[in-house]
Amino acid sequence: MISTRQLAYRYADGPALQFEDIDVAQGGVLLLCGASGSGKSTWLALAAGLLGPGAGDMTVAGQSLQALGKVAGDAWRAKTIGFLPQKLHLSAALTVHDNLAMAQWAARQAQDEQRIAEALTALGVQDLARRKPAQLSGGQAQRVALARAVLLRPQVILADEPTASLDDAAAQAAVKLLQATARHQGATLVMATHDARVADCLDSQMGFQFLYIGSNQR
Ligand code: ADP
Ligand code: MG
Repeated sequence: MISTRQLAYRYADGPALQFEDIDVAQGGVLLLCGASGSGKSTWLALAAGLLGPGAGDMTVAGQSLQALGKVAGDAWRAKTIGFLPQKLHLSAALTVHDNLAMAQWAARQAQDEQRIAEALTALGVQDLARRKPAQLSGGQAQRVALARAVLLRPQVILADEPTASLDDAAAQAAVKLLQATARHQGATLVMATHDARVADCLDSQMGFQFLYIGSNQR
């Protein structure tokens, strides 16, 4: 489902990053671990096709990212990737409901009220549909952002530092929710984190893989 071979990326005015090879099966869970600045967010951006392809090979959901152009990449990402960014990027001017409707519109989908209600209900935030993001707690805002990320039933869910700035209880809830949501959808889940609590929060009944990043930076 996700595999990389000799994946590397160099920012124009930044470090050259190298990533160890990894293979993640459909429905698998991958924890990207490493210190701050090691390249976790870069790996996620590559997997989402948000950064131009690096060196080496990266295949996500059967698509070689090296072969994907910018325009084709936007359509591919909309239907394949659910991204939960570190900064949630909910539109402050829009209600929770309209944030999700906007995501359908941005993906050139017809507005689907039933699916919006379903996604909000799945994340337990259906009663917050008419609120604006400023009227949500941090945990609620994250649930709304996750509802938006899975709205189009992506095959891959990418979450960047999903426990940052959450207390222990909320961090555990966030990780369990991500895992349950991915399992429910049959999606592959990648979580990037420098938070040692995340591994402890994962349901140990389910297998997961680690990829340590940062030991081979030059
Ligand atoms: P992490 O998510 O593990 O904290 P990042 O992937 O954000 O790490 O960053 C990896 C490295 O690349 C860091 O040294 C960071 O400073 C650098 N970097 C990130 N974005 C850019 C950019 N746009 N231009 C130049 N360097 C960058
Ligand atoms: Mg990061």
